[in-house]
Amino acid sequence: MTTSAISTYEPLTEETAIKLAARLFPEGAILKCQEIGDGNLNYVFRVSDSKSDKGVIIKQALPYAKVVGESWPLTLKRAAIEAAALRKHSEFAAVLVPEVYGTDETLAYTIMEDLSHLTIAREGLIQGKNYPNLSAHIGEYLAQTLFHTSDFALHPFEKKRLVAEFSNPELCKITEDLIFTDPFFDHDTNNFEPELRQVVEAIWSNNALKLEAAKLKRSFVTEAEALLHGDLHTGSIFADDNQTKVIDPEFAFYGPIGFDVGLFIANLIAQGITRNGEDREAIVGHVINTWEVFEARFSQLWHSDGIEDFKDVPGYLESVLDKIFRDTLGFAGCELIRRTIGLAHVKDLDGIEEAERRIQFKKQALQLGETFIIKRSELTSIHDVTALLEEF
Ligand code: ADP
Ligand code: MG
Ligand code: MG
Ligand code: MG
Repeated sequence: MTTSAISTYEPLTEETAIKLAARLFPEGAILKCQEIGDGNLNYVFRVSDSKSDKGVIIKQALPYAKVVGESWPLTLKRAAIEAAALRKHSEFAAVLVPEVYGTDETLAYTIMEDLSHLTIAREGLIQGKNYPNLSAHIGEYLAQTLFHTSDFALHPFEKKRLVAEFSNPELCKITEDLIFTDPFFDHDTNNFEPELRQVVEAIWSNNALKLEAAKLKRSFVTEAEALLHGDLHTGSIFADDNQTKVIDPEFAFYGPIGFDVGLFIANLIAQGITRNGEDREAIVGHVINTWEVFEARFSQLWHSDGIEDFKDVPGYLESVLDKIFRDTLGFAGCELIRRTIGLAHVKDLDGIEEAERRIQFKKQALQLGETFIIKRSELTSIHDVTALLEEF
């Protein structure tokens, strides 16, 4: 749905955002607007009714990314990809994504449901919240969105049409560089504390590890298994004790299923590393439950909604799940490494004020990342994975 007559791109202002959102409010409502994004890639405006405080969100892509003080051009098409991915994923997991009210390709914005009553999961987790339903909801989201957009559920013509629709080369290139390549070499996008230099140099000279990272990158660029979210970290999830909503799929494209699962699990683990005792157990429980809910729902959908001729061949579902599990571990490993020494870090680790603890946690993140990558064909269950975290 197009909601604007403007024919060339321009960045929105609080005034123009109010004009675009007005049709979604009762006539005569007095509207106010605030830009609430973090401002690296996109604007996020909240337009709300001054009386009721009911709001809507307008997210607009900027034509450049601001990273390390520099700007580089970045396609505006990602706004249309994000809106289309939210809509496609809502076909299968409607309660787990924000509703899209409208989108405009020229101005590169999406108007969507306001989720301000929820908290970004990463922020809440850092404050010690446990979000009891987080893993059940994300396990469900992963199984529903990934199964239903795969060849196991779609006619091959529709599958290939979607692969083309969600071609997202510029955003994929960011992932290819920042997750799979740069952290494993002495590239100037890397960013780490001097106390980590020795372990980082050990990564750069670890050819066995780099070989596995190369294989994982190749999976990422070649395996069009399902429509991924593409950036499923805990900062892309709104939550409270009852509800979970996944936002920000601008990196969506057809890739390997384990990538979304692995990113989410890695971000849980980065949080788990910083916790002790019962608080740590809550995160361990989420890691296990994410996989178990994903696996159970994926298996159920395989039988109820699967169209693949081979689906009843004994052992086939198990081999598909085994492949996803190994990919999950490998991608989780890459994510742990890049969130520690690459360009974009996580606040779970960077926010630890005491330097000694922070460095220790970062070394643990790197060690777990390496182990996940190297041992991904030996680890046999999700419990083996969380046992590694519990060794610290
Ligand atoms: P980016 O792609 O720039 O990371 P996000 O989609 O993650 O943009 O949004 C950035 C921030 O804007 C979020 O962390 C959140 O604070 C706010 N935001 C985004 N979408 C919504 C929404 N639907 N409701 C309320 N706040 C939102
Ligand atoms: Mg952000
Ligand atoms: Mg984001
Ligand atoms: Mg984003």
